[in-house]
Amino acid sequence: MQTRLKDGDHVGIIGGGPAGSFAAIHLLTLSRQHNLDLQVTIFEPRDFNRPGLSGCNRCAGILSSRLLRGLKRLGIQLPPDVIQANLQTYAICLDNETLEIQQPDPSRRIVSIYRGGGPRLLQEPSPTSFDAFMLKKAIALGAKHLPQRVRVVHWEKRPIIHTGRNHFPVDFLILATGINSRPPLSATFGYHPPKTVLMAQDEILLPPSWPANQVRAYFRKPSGLLFGALIPKGKYINISLLGKGLTNHSIEDFIAAQNLSQDLQFTPESRLCGCTPQIAVSSARRFYGNRWVTVGDSAVTRLYKDGIGSAFYTTQAAMRIAIEYGISQRAFGFQYAPYCRRIARDNLYGRLLFTLWQLTLRSEKFLHAWMKAIHSEQKTPSQEHVHSRILWGMLTGDEPYKKLFWLSVRPQVVLDLLRHIK
Ligand SMILES: Cc1cc2nc3c(=O)[nH]c(=O)nc-3n(C[C@H](O)[C@H](O)[C@H](O)COP(=O)(O)OP(=O)(O)OC[C@H]3O[C@@H](n4cnc5c(N)ncnc54)[C@H](O)[C@@H]3O)c2cc1C
Repeated sequence: MQTRLKDGDHVGIIGGGPAGSFAAIHLLTLSRQHNLDLQVTIFEPRDFNRPGLSGCNRCAGILSSRLLRGLKRLGIQLPPDVIQANLQTYAICLDNETLEIQQPDPSRRIVSIYRGGGPRLLQEPSPTSFDAFMLKKAIALGAKHLPQRVRVVHWEKRPIIHTGRNHFPVDFLILATGINSRPPLSATFGYHPPKTVLMAQDEILLPPSWPANQVRAYFRKPSGLLFGALIPKGKYINISLLGKGLTNHSIEDFIAAQNLSQDLQFTPESRLCGCTPQIAVSSARRFYGNRWVTVGDSAVTRLYKDGIGSAFYTTQAAMRIAIEYGISQRAFGFQYAPYCRRIARDNLYGRLLFTLWQLTLRSEKFLHAWMKAIHSEQKTPSQEHVHSRILWGMLTGDEPYKKLFWLSVRPQVVLDLLRHIK
């Protein structure tokens, strides 16, 4: 059984979303540093330049600062036409009160992008797609793009990729199909994808008076809503909802319940796109083996936030192991599995934080204490802000949940909250 990659080996990457392109970029960058000549093919049927669902991998499109830092380290700078907005503040909108949380420092820059060619009913010109930009980067490094959907991957001493038209035996297979379509691995692989929940999202035109650099976050209404966000993206606003029982009508229900129709100049005709995509809420099982590994959403991602950043870092870890330690089940088991388990463990802290937040939202007394604590810390220098830092981290996925959780239960932080309870 071959356990190391060698010159001339063929690597097949299924899926050319962020995880697929990042995998090709990391693999080709590292293989060059190790004087290894690999043939890398990305199978991706979607044309990311097309507007609407056919060109889009369905997401709100916020890029975290840790992702931007990772890209910079690889020498990748996002061009201005890919960036739709520099997001400098989050506004927490609670009934009649709005709390502004500022970006903690300039190094924690976050931006919004379009994954595809913009909303289905878009107004020209079409925004530049982030996924298309990353795929182009992978191609520039030497990857070949085959615009074909993979029907199934069989195992015949090695992975054999079948597209319906052709079949491709590969020496190393990378699965990066995300969680919004059926994974094409045959049962022999034993792969079980992550569990998912539904989200709802749409795009509308940005009203002239609406802040173009601020994400607005809404809670509590309508019932079952965990989190609703309005994210400016150039000429548009993305509306993303996470909660229970979401359907295609949830956007209208949310706008009515939050009393936003007037401010957003919203009518049912304002909706320019609309989808109910899945988001991963657990890790995959049996997600690597001899000569194959899964990355991005197909393997594990951070809970609710920074999925694209997770795609970057899981592929970085997996590709480093493939080049430096080999492509055996043992190498991935020793090196890659612990990395993914750390993300899954961090998500447990994320769950705890979101539960604490839900409990806070249910108690008027506690909610007001917490709001007062934020108001009073905003009068101090920004490096002393703890409550705002926790919220910024939870809303953007910019810091590990574990760190934020322990910060939130520090005695000084709890005492500060208690001090503000009337
Ligand atoms: C509503 C919503 C909002 C989100 N907001 C954010 C956000 O603001 N920021 C953030 O970082 N993350 C966000 N996420 C998460 C983010 O979308 C994912 O974590 C990210 O897309 C994962 O990238 P991926 O490459 O693993 O999968 P995907 O982006 O799903 O890409 C998978 C690719 O595989 C291709 N594919 C699938 N099957 C096959 C096949 N059989 N053959 C060939 N190709 C195939 C697909 O066409 C697709 O291009 C959000 C998710 C949702 C649902």
